Amino acid sequence: MISRRQALIAGGAATAVIGGSAVAVGVANREKPEPPAPPSTDGKGHSVWRNWSGIQHSYPIQRTAPKDEGELAALLRGGPAPIRVTGAGHSFTGLCATDGTLVSLDAMKGVTGWDGDEAAVWAGTRLGDLGPALAAKGRAMANLPDINKQSLGGALGTATHGTGSTLKAIHGDVRALTLVTAGGAVLDCDAKTRPELFSAARVSLGALGIISKARLATTANRRLRRRVWVEPFEEALEQAEARWKTHRNFEFYAVPFTGLAANIAHDETDEAATVRPPSQDDAFLDVLKSLRNLLGFSTGMRKAAAGALLGGSKPETAVDEGWKLLSTERPVRFNEMEFHLPVATQLTALKEVVEAIEKHRPDVFFPIEVRRIAPDDAWLSPFQGEPRGSVAVHAYYRDEYDFFFELIQPIFLKHGGRPHWGKLHSLKGPDLAALYPRWNDFLEIRRELDPDGRLLNPYLKTLFGI
Ligand SMILES: Cc1cc2nc3c(=O)[nH]c(=O)nc-3n(C[C@H](O)[C@H](O)[C@H](O)COP(=O)(O)OP(=O)(O)OC[C@H]3O[C@@H](n4cnc5c(N)ncnc54)[C@H](O)[C@@H]3O)c2cc1C
Repeated sequence: MISRRQALIAGGAATAVIGGSAVAVGVANREKPEPPAPPSTDGKGHSVWRNWSGIQHSYPIQRTAPKDEGELAALLRGGPAPIRVTGAGHSFTGLCATDGTLVSLDAMKGVTGWDGDEAAVWAGTRLGDLGPALAAKGRAMANLPDINKQSLGGALGTATHGTGSTLKAIHGDVRALTLVTAGGAVLDCDAKTRPELFSAARVSLGALGIISKARLATTANRRLRRRVWVEPFEEALEQAEARWKTHRNFEFYAVPFTGLAANIAHDETDEAATVRPPSQDDAFLDVLKSLRNLLGFSTGMRKAAAGALLGGSKPETAVDEGWKLLSTERPVRFNEMEFHLPVATQLTALKEVVEAIEKHRPDVFFPIEVRRIAPDDAWLSPFQGEPRGSVAVHAYYRDEYDFFFELIQPIFLKHGGRPHWGKLHSLKGPDLAALYPRWNDFLEIRRELDPDGRLLNPYLKTLFGI
């Protein structure tokens, strides 16, 4: 058995060799050029705002970072519309773009106090900064997404989640929050005080107002043991349900055109923390991209080369506190579509997605991420009412992602999926109304709190109308 690291180094060498022969037989390299960047200003002195992946941009006429709820209320009352709030700009959909006012809560961050094991946190706090702040009290967030760059407000805004069949998305651990509305009212809510507002606001896309702070339930800061291993895709499919039952956190990546899957499990442990080698994820992606570039013309050769390079790799383990282990870095940019499916259809949908990609899109090389999330009761939570299984398809940022909408979204919809609010989809208000039983209640509260539609940009109008 070889380790994943050795396999990846071997992969680099092998793809160089394959590259040599590919050039010799005149195979076109599929690497696309850098996409064009928008102008840095709009010609009127307003500088550009872009999201992480680069596909959304706008030129806000006002940018502001209030220091407290009083300043936030004043700018919500008086700032030029549309008023949009952004955290780290990591959403792929057009949620934050505005040519009016762009609000950042970067000056409203940190833990402000404790109520037992519940932490009061400013919504501008980045998840990566929350880890050490909670750990200083021996506490942690129960779960984390793949990365920790998001602001708390942004993570709540789109129902950001990690994986684990007993673990809720981040908003599922919110016990109370404060919302500053378009009219400048500062409203506290929890399950007893304004319970309807609490149900609507926990996942609200910045469309009800701006969440200034939240009270978060925390868990003991435990060490986790991570195990990563590669196996045949069919084996991963067969074992997935049992693994979701067994492991604290479990997810897997289906790797199209390889017949392989990479599994990642995290479980609590008392073992000592280990020194971690640098992440191999980028090298893994590099090998997959090289195989796509050089052998994309032949599914058979691509699969054989991937199997030889990655199929026999040895499992890797690491031990550390959960907040240090659960999120990782994602330096390779991509665009993404993720739907949350009923658990009964998740794996069938996944199989269809892999088949569709392998049949129609040889340009795709990114692995497909498969996770499980516990239910909650926020009205616009994709996990509202029942546990859901997520399936996420990625496209390298230089590559086309039109196939998300034409090829993949119909599969997700056929299987009862709800879209991730921050990731690409083409659903509009009426489609979404059919997926969310409390959709009209949400719209009613939205109209009450923002009767003039000051919070709606053109994208949000396609979801919520006016
Ligand atoms: C590399 C990468 C990895 C990712 N991994 C995961 C993952 O593992 N799991 C997952 O679920 N998602 C994941 N995402 C998606 C990401 O978590 C969400 O898009 C999240 O909303 C981004 O947070 P942000 O702070 O960048 O918010 P933004 O994208 O800036 O904003 C998101 C939404 O929240 C609203 N908002 C922001 N702050 C507030 C506030 N204070 N009050 C009210 N509304 C507010 C905004 O108006 C907007 O509607 C990933 C994205 C990337 C780019």
